[in-house]
Amino acid sequence: MEFSGIRAIVTGGASGIGLATARLLTERGATVSCLDLSAPPEPLHGVQADVRDDASVRAAIAGAVEHLGGLDVLVNNAGIGAQGTVEDNGDDEWRNVFEVNVFGMVRVSRAALPHLRRSEHAAIVNTCSIAATAGLPQRALYSATKGAVQSLTLAMAADHLRDGIRVTCVNPGTADTPWVGRLLAATDDPEAERAALAARQPSGRLVSAEEVAAAIAYLASPLASATTGTALAVDGGMAGL
Ligand code: NAD
Repeated sequence: MEFSGIRAIVTGGASGIGLATARLLTERGATVSCLDLSAPPEPLHGVQADVRDDASVRAAIAGAVEHLGGLDVLVNNAGIGAQGTVEDNGDDEWRNVFEVNVFGMVRVSRAALPHLRRSEHAAIVNTCSIAATAGLPQRALYSATKGAVQSLTLAMAADHLRDGIRVTCVNPGTADTPWVGRLLAATDDPEAERAALAARQPSGRLVSAEEVAAAIAYLASPLASATTGTALAVDGGMAGL
């Protein structure tokens, strides 16, 4: 995959899947800006924003586009998790996770679309999750946000097809990122929990951030020029087996 001349914004690009994506696109020739609460590691370029705040998103997208000299690819990846049933999470937590995972994606897309319309190779790739369709226990709130992301992906693909903008999503299974590391670190025996988590995957291992990044890069690339509205599972067989 070749990204020379391609200008990309990756949200949540300071960690995990977003960071792996920013690194891969950069290695393959793209110019990348990471939109995140935190700065990405050097030498990646970053713009600071909280996707829950429209003014901060608009300013960050404007700053990133100025730095990049335009925009061809948006990777909408910033997201947070939540565990529990509908009885476990209160309204404030429901609102907060929707603010980040769904409304954040809408805000970033809204600010980016006018720039993407001017591109010859425009693509949006949203990071969804296997949780959108898998019916996972103890993930009611998180799954609801990702179900919304998958529907949003399809609707945006329809709306922006004639603008020449493809919109797709990746649906990772359990991916070995700092987020999962934090969940494991909160248990009594993180190493035993990690082994148990891996054993529950059909493939016997977690997906790597780099494997998800490769799928995102493919969907963002001209190689996927006839693909829009699609959800690509990157889950070691979890959805299909
Ligand atoms: P991560 O915690 O390693 O990285 C998430 C990044 O998003 C962080 O850099 C964080 O600062 C940023 N972020 C969070 N809230 C933000 C906000 N309000 N504004 C701006 N940036 C914000 O997590 P990850 O595992 O790499 O997750 C990335 C995406 O992948 C998320 O959308 C997540 O739902 C999705 N996902 C992860 C897994 C997994 O198992 N790790 C599985 C399926 C889907």
